[in-house]
Amino acid sequence: MPDSIHAPTDAALAKLKAVFGFADFRGRQAEVVERVLAGRPTLAVMPTGAGKSLTYQLPAVMLEGTCVVISPLIALMHDQLRAARANGIRAATLTSADADWRETQDAFRRGELDLLYVAPERASQSGFREFLSAAPLCLFAVDEAHCVSEWGHDFRPDYRMLRPLMDAFPHVPRLALTATADRQTRSDVMGQLGIPADGLVLAGFDRPNIRYAIRHRDNPLRQLANLMAAEPGPGIVYALTRRKVEELAEKLGAATGRPVLPYHAGLDAEVRAANQSSFVASEDTVMVATVAFGMGIDKPDVRFVAHVGVPKSIEGYYQETGRAGRDGDPAQAVMFWGAGDFATARQRLAEIDEARRGAERARLDALAGLVETAECRRAILLRHFGEDPPAACGNCDNCIEQPAVTDVTELARKLLSAVYRTGQSFGMGHLQKVLTGVEDERVRQRGHDRLSVFGIVEADEAPLLQPLARALQARGELIATEHGGLALGGAARAILKGESNVQIVVPPKRERKGRRNAAA
Ligand code: ADP
Ligand code: ZN
Repeated sequence: MPDSIHAPTDAALAKLKAVFGFADFRGRQAEVVERVLAGRPTLAVMPTGAGKSLTYQLPAVMLEGTCVVISPLIALMHDQLRAARANGIRAATLTSADADWRETQDAFRRGELDLLYVAPERASQSGFREFLSAAPLCLFAVDEAHCVSEWGHDFRPDYRMLRPLMDAFPHVPRLALTATADRQTRSDVMGQLGIPADGLVLAGFDRPNIRYAIRHRDNPLRQLANLMAAEPGPGIVYALTRRKVEELAEKLGAATGRPVLPYHAGLDAEVRAANQSSFVASEDTVMVATVAFGMGIDKPDVRFVAHVGVPKSIEGYYQETGRAGRDGDPAQAVMFWGAGDFATARQRLAEIDEARRGAERARLDALAGLVETAECRRAILLRHFGEDPPAACGNCDNCIEQPAVTDVTELARKLLSAVYRTGQSFGMGHLQKVLTGVEDERVRQRGHDRLSVFGIVEADEAPLLQPLARALQARGELIATEHGGLALGGAARAILKGESNVQIVVPPKRERKGRRNAAA
């Protein structure tokens, strides 16, 4: 790597110290700043807390002209505004909550703003383009850039207006930022915002001090009490419903004698605030909570995060477990899951909007891949975020103790051939029918009953098809298409040609039954 690309200029380092008071860049900040200063379009994918704001704020103070920051939340903008002004940066917001529009607009026209924060709706308003033409711009920074993608979990139609706006200023560089972008969302974001493939800077998702473990849930109360007995420090237990939160908090407190508090959106605001502050101040309290808990809570010494039931997505899992061990000391992330969790989640898929169903199903499949894998959990997580980690981390349950696996290479070949022969556009439901020889209308219509793969999977192997498909997806050998179908991934060839083997964790009988229901 040539130094000129990755070494921050002296000028950037000097400003970093003078304006922000930091001695050095963190992670790949320097690279992003360098790219921006060189005018190259960039998508920066970095986890929350990695310091994304700095990557546009620093260029904003270094470059001539105003940096326009698009941000989806007014509260977020005002936080940023306060922080920027505290560093002496000339910043303003133009939102419906601001009374000082006039002054802000005048300051912008006079070229007196380093940063101008606006909501995405602004971009679609006629007149905004003209307004921006009145003074020099140095950068477009698109925060929470995953909002531009329908594939992402937080699609905002207004983000689609950003491209034409930015295209009207072809000489102004663009920087998109997000903490959550799986491969599909990422390439969609880049396409939507006009950032070329070489514009991706992605890094820093590993949390080496967190030990990941994912276990089957048989007796959550006992399992949690054991975890708490082994870990006397503060912890968070995520449960799926308010009722579960209250029940678990009460029973765990009684069973362990430790301070255990509940937190969910249905509690009085005062109770919530009181529970939160005693958790933050305490060295041994356990908070049982819904996912409503955790955003913006600064407690570096959380020693464990447990999930009772599966989180919504890998992104959610990563974010929630990421609240453990921020101080860098050893911490644990333990998920207790049941096949019923997936069954419920899959049932819910039927209720959601058709357009979003494919993406939601893919999210669930990726999560299932993480849960069912016999491979290193960390490697799966980091690969999900686009990194290229070593195959084993030595600090997750599967690395510490290899689970029992079964060789399903032959079955995998059958499945991959079926995917290929049906044209790489059908989902598991259809593929299962073809493979097990179920002749329904759709199978006949497509002529899939005449394929060589029709009916080649025996009844005793059939229950392994779903976990196998998820494992193959986790490994990238099967890829979910946007429409909920499955296509062959890069490494599928090696399996088909007999060059690579596939093993999966043997699912307990009980779960196999649950899965069959889930697949229906
Ligand atoms: P993100 O937007 O990626 O979630 P922020 O931009 O809010 O993260 O930054 C998180 C924290 O890290 C902030 O308190 C910020 O001041 C701090 N920070 C950012 N860059 C650096 C750095 N180079 N050195 C030290 N602290 C930094
Ligand atoms: Zn590992």
